[in-house]
Amino acid sequence: MDNSPQNSFFQHKARKRFGQNFLVDENIIEKIVRAISPKESDRLVEIGPGQGAITQLLIQRCPSLTAVELDRDLIPLLKFKFRDYPDFTIIEQDALKFDFGEFAGDDKLRIVGNLPYNISTPLLFHLLGFRGKVEDMHFMLQKEVVDRLSATPGNKSFGRLSVMVQYHCRVQGLFPVPPQSFRPAPKVESAIVRLVPHATPPYPAEDEQLLERIVNVAFQQRRKTLRNALKPLYPELDVSQLPVDAGRRPETLSVQEFVQLANYCATLAGC
Ligand code: SAM
Repeated sequence: MDNSPQNSFFQHKARKRFGQNFLVDENIIEKIVRAISPKESDRLVEIGPGQGAITQLLIQRCPSLTAVELDRDLIPLLKFKFRDYPDFTIIEQDALKFDFGEFAGDDKLRIVGNLPYNISTPLLFHLLGFRGKVEDMHFMLQKEVVDRLSATPGNKSFGRLSVMVQYHCRVQGLFPVPPQSFRPAPKVESAIVRLVPHATPPYPAEDEQLLERIVNVAFQQRRKTLRNALKPLYPELDVSQLPVDAGRRPETLSVQEFVQLANYCATLAGC
C-alpha cells in the first residue's frame, strides 16, 4: 500500500468530529481570498487549513502563513503540499487552546478560516480574548451564526453573541456560500463574515465582565422583561433608577443600552 503523503492526500476521509467540510468550489475560494486580500507582510494565521483549499491561494500572496490544525493526519499532507514554502508553519494544536496573543508578540494577526461549525461560538469567544492582538478576522461560519453576529436589536437572531461580538468588533456579513461548495456538503447554508476589533469600544463598559454577566442573564430569559430577567443578579433592584425602561425585553436593547445598563449596575453593591 502506498502511504506517501501525496497518495493519502487523496484518501483522507472527512471526519465529522473535526467538523470537516472541505471547500471544493474554486470560484468561492477565490472570492474568499479576494475578500481577505492578503499581503506579503501580513502575520496571517489560518485556523483549520484542512487539505489546503484556501491555504494554496493564501500562501501565494503571503508565504509566511501559519496554519493551526488539530487533525494530525492532515499534517503530512499539508507539509508535502506546501514543501516549496520554507516560511510556512503548521502548528498541530487545538485552536481553542492556542495562545494567539503570545504567538502575535508585538504584531497584530490577521486570522482566517473555514471554521469547524461545532466549535465556532467558543472559538469566537476565545479569539475575542486576544482582540488587542488582532487586526481582523475572516471566517466561514454557518449562515445562522453570521446572522446572529450581525443582527440588530429587535431581530430574532439578536442575542448574547451579537451584543458581545459587536461590543468588541465591527461586524460585516460578506456573502453566502451554498452547501454544494463543500465535500461533503453540510446540511446548512454558510456565509463569510469579517470581524474588525475596535481600537477602543465605541461605548466602553466600566466593567466588561459585568457587562458579560448581564448580557448572559438577560438572554437566558429573552421572553421576560428586563425587570424579571435581571432578578437572578439583582433581587432587590430598584428599576425606577435604571437607564433603560425595565418593561422592555432584553432583545430590544442596543449594545449601547446594554453598556449603559452595565455601567449603572457597576455603581450598585452586590454583583
Ligand atoms: N480550510 C479547509 C477547507 O476550507 O476546505 C477545511 C475546513 S473544515 C470546515 C475545518 C478544519 O478545521 C478541518 O481541517 C479540521 O480538522 C480543523 N479543526 C477542527 N477542529 C479544530 C480545532 N479545534 N483547532 C484547529 N483546527 C480544527
